[in-house]
Amino acid sequence: MIFKGQNIIEFSKQFKGDKACLEYIAEIKWAEGYKCSNCGHNKFTVRKKNLARDCNRCHHIESPTANTMFHSIRFGLQKSFMIVFEMSATTKGMSSSQMAKRYEISRTTAWTFMHKVRTAMKSSGNYPMEGKVQVDEFVYGGKETLKQGRSKDSKKKKLISAVELTEIGSVKRAYFKKIEDYSPNSLRKIFDEHISKSATVFTDKWTGYAPISKDFDIHQDYSDNGQSMKQMHTIIHQLKSWLRSVYSWVDEGHIEKYLDEYSFRINRSVYKQTIFHRLIERMVMTHPVTYQEIKIST
Ligand SMILES: [Zn+2]
Repeated sequence: MIFKGQNIIEFSKQFKGDKACLEYIAEIKWAEGYKCSNCGHNKFTVRKKNLARDCNRCHHIESPTANTMFHSIRFGLQKSFMIVFEMSATTKGMSSSQMAKRYEISRTTAWTFMHKVRTAMKSSGNYPMEGKVQVDEFVYGGKETLKQGRSKDSKKKKLISAVELTEIGSVKRAYFKKIEDYSPNSLRKIFDEHISKSATVFTDKWTGYAPISKDFDIHQDYSDNGQSMKQMHTIIHQLKSWLRSVYSWVDEGHIEKYLDEYSFRINRSVYKQTIFHRLIERMVMTHPVTYQEIKIST
């Protein structure tokens, strides 16, 4: 049964222990039917103890967690489900040290698992933003100033955001990316990944956007002082205060994963009912990621 909603009592009733979580994973994994990953046969026997499928032809045994992000989790599936629930269904994510304390696991274990979840949260890029889209650059870290926009301070991380607006001008979706500099090539990445060529894009007057307007419908209308950017600035402000509460020096270089997590929650706020289930689904259908891979992929 698909878990829906954000009620933690209902959640703990459904996921009483590791076995219930294992069942949930097995249901998602073989939702389309079982097929032996070794020989392709479709008849099997279930092993009661760990719900592994034993192929009737070649006797290849496959556990529900094999080739998923839940593979070889040593701290228990129930705890891992709780963490996914907290990262998806609650309004604000938590830092890995808070999570470590809450579930009595090591900081590294919490950090690694949470980065796996963030990997699953990363946008597929299959649904580019349409309609009205605002794009702006901002900085994070170093000495905070009230000034938005481009900065020469090398300690600050340079970021770019794109916000898709609804008909009435509220935020529909938002994406963020780290950029190396404010050159057209760097700015362009968020366009290519997340913005449709038919969207109407609003930016400030920075010359770096001019070359991109060959391929995108860019209107360099607004200025930082105007009210037109209000939605964008509110989102950036919220993102920064969230980053300050969960992001630490250990994670230097991993900022994009946190940006993905933040986007995931904003962009699915209208689908709160199924947000947890969809995320578990992604984690089951995505191949496992190791601690080493997370460390390298920066
Ligand atoms: Zn087989």
